[in-house]
Amino acid sequence: MELMKMTMHEVKEYLKTNQTIIIPIGATEEHSNALPLGTDTLTAEALARKLGEVSLRIVGPTINVGNCHSITYSFHGTISISPTTLINYLKDYITSLHKHGFRNFFFVNGHGGNIAPLRCAFDELANTLTNSKFLVTSWWLMEELKELYNNAGHAGRGEVSMIMYIDKSLVKTAFLTEEKREIPKYYVTNDLAQKYITETGIINDSQEGSYELGEKLFNASVEAMLKLLKHLEES
Ligand SMILES: [Zn+2]
Repeated sequence: MELMKMTMHEVKEYLKTNQTIIIPIGATEEHSNALPLGTDTLTAEALARKLGEVSLRIVGPTINVGNCHSITYSFHGTISISPTTLINYLKDYITSLHKHGFRNFFFVNGHGGNIAPLRCAFDELANTLTNSKFLVTSWWLMEELKELYNNAGHAGRGEVSMIMYIDKSLVKTAFLTEEKREIPKYYVTNDLAQKYITETGIINDSQEGSYELGEKLFNASVEAMLKLLKHLEES
């Protein structure tokens, strides 16, 4: 069930028995020359929709531009919403849903730069909204996927595999490559990102992905998220 395709009557009826909403959030961000700019959004959206399908919960509109203010900001095609603006956007998005009766907010996140703004938004809402629970799940950080994902980096084999599974036509296989280097422990400004962190847009990984790994990562993510969704609702 997608909120965008439902009527207000259908939403009102749903809220009589359930107050959960699943919200996909991603980014429009460089993912090397092999993967689309929407990699994080496409992955989060596909996972959220599958989760909505198996749990019979509503999936809210996808937030498809996120916080990419560091590292990837200077690469062609990246669009970034500043952390402050994103926090405010999230607060308004959640507050609107809360007004109508939603109380369990389950974010399916596809992009690392969104985690801090999401947590800040939750903190800021904790004292203004009532009786609500918030959760952010980032598929590549889930304990259940640790072995499968094996620390794959940005635009690396994990994301290549996910996109191969979601829509193989979006992977430009002729450009698959690798870039591995020591990532500095300090933070650098964006004019130095290509010099110190990545030239190709891949951060510390190879792109030797596969449809089969994508299928495993996808299904394991949905399974783990389903458990968390139940935990959110039942605890
Ligand atoms: Zn990504």
